[in-house]
Amino acid sequence: MNALYFSANFANLENKIAMILLDGKKISAEIKAELKKEIEKIKASGGKIPHLAAILVGNDGASETYVKSKVKSCQEVGFHSTLLRLKADISEAALLAEIQKMNQNPEIDGFIVQLPLPKHISENKIIENIAPEKDVDGFHPINIGRMTKNLPAYIPATPFGILQLLERYQIETTSKHCVVVGRSHIVGSPISILMARNAPIGNCTVTLCHSKTKDLSYFTQKADILIVALGKPEFIEAYMVKDGAVVVDVGITRLPDENSAKGYKIVGDVKFEEVAPKCSYITPVPGGVGPMTVVSLLQNTLFAAKKQVYLPNPF
Ligand code: NDP
Repeated sequence: MNALYFSANFANLENKIAMILLDGKKISAEIKAELKKEIEKIKASGGKIPHLAAILVGNDGASETYVKSKVKSCQEVGFHSTLLRLKADISEAALLAEIQKMNQNPEIDGFIVQLPLPKHISENKIIENIAPEKDVDGFHPINIGRMTKNLPAYIPATPFGILQLLERYQIETTSKHCVVVGRSHIVGSPISILMARNAPIGNCTVTLCHSKTKDLSYFTQKADILIVALGKPEFIEAYMVKDGAVVVDVGITRLPDENSAKGYKIVGDVKFEEVAPKCSYITPVPGGVGPMTVVSLLQNTLFAAKKQVYLPNPF
């Protein structure tokens, strides 16, 4: 990979050191090209084309964007996709009935329920009713449990995407200190488990931080690999990061921006401009973890279509 040097955009920075951008856009495009080739082979041999379905409840702007990007990515690689839109006031029972239909539909290999759900619906109940073998988001307790035991399972898409980024950039993780900020069930908690596993991308000593952690910067400053998923824009500042650290910024926050045609800009959890010069590697936002999440979901769907989920994991 080419080292990037701060130039045009970051000309104001005094410490011009080499760092490598963990380019999720580029890596996800490479993986999509690989998937596309595989789909062509499946088509040629008369095999089953993977089919991903997404359930979108209500019309939250960010959820709408994420789901559209997942559907578009399916089209790009040649998967079949279905988007089921349901009204925000749908009852929990009616949503569960839709999930049962998806569980039983042999055409659909894997499906996701886009989160967050309206407050009157229990996310746990919904997730627990998805058939584990179709749970390509990897949120079902069976998949989380299997992953935790280092058994083959669907790895949740965002952590899966982070592992793939680290792997493709050949970042050594063994014996490193990995600090994860945020302990959500979809990002922080699973990535902390994965980074600690006895696996090629793993073998870290992991510290998991959250909102009750005292003196957060004491821990972040000790991180060889810092994974940040807390949802607070530009929260991680330069003084919190060790020189030469690998920084993975999962955060996505929309901030109002009059200069953008969309009326908003996407900001990560890391103050990129001041943190990047200290890093050996860093993900940009957008274009880092986000595209890796989408492509990892497609890979999980391919595993589902090939009934490969309980064969050994790539990691
Ligand atoms: P959650 O809101 O579910 O969890 C946030 C976590 O951050 C919690 O564990 C919380 O601690 C912790 N936290 C909050 N404030 C602090 C603080 N001041 N210091 C330390 N820890 C703190 O977030 P998600 O994991 O769902 O999402 C995190 C971010 O990642 C969001 O911006 C989201 O949009 C983005 N995201 C991006 C994806 C991608 O593909 N790039 C995919 C999924 C999410 P506590 O548990 O104590 O409350």
